[in-house]
Amino acid sequence: MDETYPTPPPLCGSDALLLDFDGTLVELAPRPDAIAVDPALPGLLGALAAQLGGALAVISGRPLAELQHWLGAELTLIGVHGAEANLPLPGAREIAPLPAAVGEALEPLCRRHPGVWLEPKRYALGVHYRESPGAEEDVLQACATVAQDYGLERLCGKCIVELRHADIHKGAALQRLLQHPRYAGRRPLMLGDDRTDEDAFVAAQDAGGCGVKVGGGASQARCRLASVADVHAWLRAQAEQLDAGESP
Ligand SMILES: [Mg+2]
Repeated sequence: MDETYPTPPPLCGSDALLLDFDGTLVELAPRPDAIAVDPALPGLLGALAAQLGGALAVISGRPLAELQHWLGAELTLIGVHGAEANLPLPGAREIAPLPAAVGEALEPLCRRHPGVWLEPKRYALGVHYRESPGAEEDVLQACATVAQDYGLERLCGKCIVELRHADIHKGAALQRLLQHPRYAGRRPLMLGDDRTDEDAFVAAQDAGGCGVKVGGGASQARCRLASVADVHAWLRAQAEQLDAGESP
């Protein structure tokens, strides 16, 4: 990791904390259902949310139901890059599910590479190739073709390509979240590890806050944390210092 990037600023009680899930709060796993969530994590996030007046949210590409399964329903959770949320967001509108034909068009790709599999998420389609890394070029090409055919955006993450409507991304989700009374006027800090978080880093920084890239690689985020373990340590330290600040 490039050590010239600063670590994130200390949290204030008037900040808003926005967190990606996979690769940020939990280590990446070969398959999305194979992650190990630290049993202390939901409690830590709940405590931080209380210290921030409720202004904490997890923003993920996962479906909302999966986030609720792993983290419980108490936290603000935004799924499928903003297409789903358990908090009514200003500017929410009806989003058309992706047509089934998008997945059908990629079935020949999956037949060519047995390790490649599709994750339908109603408003987006994930094409996973972690178990078949040699298929990357074929996956990228096939997804580019399908994206063009159906007017979708292709976003390349860590061993996943996501196809979705162009206006559904974490940056737009963050902007809408900041219009909600619970988050409005707060300095947003957005932590994330992947390409899908870049829009949200920019949105956070445009709103006077800070993007925090987890791990190495090029990023528009101004701050860095090296690993999931460092994210947990930073979160625990913020909870402690906010707690100390509230003590008489
Ligand atoms: Mg991630």
